[in-house]
Amino acid sequence: MVLAPNTPPQTMQAARFYAPGDVRVEPVALPAPQAGELVIKIDAALTCGTDVKCYRRGHPVLLANTPNSCSSPFGHEGCGTVVAIGNGVTNFSVGDLVVAANSAPCGDCFFCDKNQPNLCNNIAFLNGTYAEYLTIPANIVSKNTHTLPPGFAPTKGAFTEPLAVALRGVMEMNIQPGDTVALLGIGPIGLLMARVATELGAQVTAYGRNPLKRQLASTFAHCQHVVHWTEDLTPEVMKAATPQGYGFDMVIEAVGLPHIWQLATQLVRKGGKVNLFGGCPGGSTVELDTRRLHYDEITLLSLFHHTPAYIAMAVDWLTTHKLDPSPLITDTRPLTDVVPALEAVMAGEAIKVALIPEQ
Ligand SMILES: [Zn+2]
Ligand SMILES: [Zn+2]
Repeated sequence: MVLAPNTPPQTMQAARFYAPGDVRVEPVALPAPQAGELVIKIDAALTCGTDVKCYRRGHPVLLANTPNSCSSPFGHEGCGTVVAIGNGVTNFSVGDLVVAANSAPCGDCFFCDKNQPNLCNNIAFLNGTYAEYLTIPANIVSKNTHTLPPGFAPTKGAFTEPLAVALRGVMEMNIQPGDTVALLGIGPIGLLMARVATELGAQVTAYGRNPLKRQLASTFAHCQHVVHWTEDLTPEVMKAATPQGYGFDMVIEAVGLPHIWQLATQLVRKGGKVNLFGGCPGGSTVELDTRRLHYDEITLLSLFHHTPAYIAMAVDWLTTHKLDPSPLITDTRPLTDVVPALEAVMAGEAIKVALIPEQ
């Protein structure tokens, strides 16, 4: 094992998720890295809508291995500097600025063999970026960790995971230049998806309630139209803005509510595509008009998570400055403020909060 001159301590401050509504920043052990692992000092972590959902109601996949009686590491978007290296790791050095995805496929299961690594049977989600240090497991070190250029802003590097999700969510729709796209929901991922879609030449109409987010839909995501969403907006009114009123070529649902999934299928034109992207509460169901789906040839997609190829693409978009996500960070706070940060996001007062451990 190789240690940095500023050898990591044996304990650190870290946020722990105990139960919905119960997250505590407390001292926890920081073991030395095992073979194949890296320990990084977190330079910046970001709040994410998924963490807000976890904080509110737990998460069926991300924190699945957390029995109520104990706690789990928390936070999955972050960027940091390598401070200790386990045996056998040759492609990273102490002092490297790195970003690690929050999972890596095993490369060996039925779904990996089908080239669907985001659905890998052995996927293990890495949490723990809301902390002073993070141990990156060997599988993620070898398959889904990238070195960033020296001096690159860690707050930008920390966008790798959400940008990879947004890139995959949009690229797999095969959007063509000039396509009209309706975006329902303008949280951080929705805004990133809108920006990716406009980079691909789409004309995006974004619907949302929050004025701060609507402003970013224009200034950051370059949406052509930004509409103040209200429940009394009917599909007919929404479609009236599209060429000849036929509906949108593509619709992205980025809210995660069953009735908005249904609405998404009503806004698309004949032959169009709908991406049911927002994860709904567990156990919820939707009713869909079979006639609409069949005779209008609606394609439904429901894209989840990222793959190593999209993580690499996100790193490329960020480091070549094709996309600067910084405007989505509306607040910077110390790590100890993780709960107020999540609550500010929940209240719609912040888009993403950068959490910076005290130096
Ligand atoms: Zn995230
Ligand atoms: Zn696998």
